[in-house]
Amino acid sequence: MYDCAYKAFEKVAIDNALSWPIDIFQLVKNYKVSLITYDELAYRNNMHILDFLKWMPSQDGMYMQYKGNICIAYNNRKCTETQRFTIAHELGHIIMDHKEDTEQNDKYANCFARNLLCPADKVSTNDLECSCVIANKFLINDRAAKVRVDMIKTDLYYMKKLGIVY
Ligand SMILES: [Zn+2]
Repeated sequence: MYDCAYKAFEKVAIDNALSWPIDIFQLVKNYKVSLITYDELAYRNNMHILDFLKWMPSQDGMYMQYKGNICIAYNNRKCTETQRFTIAHELGHIIMDHKEDTEQNDKYANCFARNLLCPADKVSTNDLECSCVIANKFLINDRAAKVRVDMIKTDLYYMKKLGIVY
């Protein structure tokens, strides 16, 4: 049932001739998606960042549509690796054309982001012994690297089943 996420990742990898670690900031530009930081959004709303964060439904990021433009807002106070995952997750929502932020859609977006930032078949078997090696190579945070290790068999299984080639 995660087919949509794997297929979306495959298409993005092919269309953009990706190599890893990917430049997520450049990638969103290819989709004409603009980026805005939470600091900037807070400033535009005349809010202190701490009040703004209390007001935001997500502490990581969100995507929004404004006058026909699609925009990803992200919490720039998190580490770069977390920002990269947030932006990849939100790009997943946009590319898979999610209309609402359901738990299921979030799972699809996480699957998309995980494979976009760190595809299962790009991780060498040796690196699986230490998630910190994966984190450094693919510029993802520790939590994402641990999930990558945990999900490696599942992802490889589905990529094979679906014939994902890029
Ligand atoms: Zn989400």
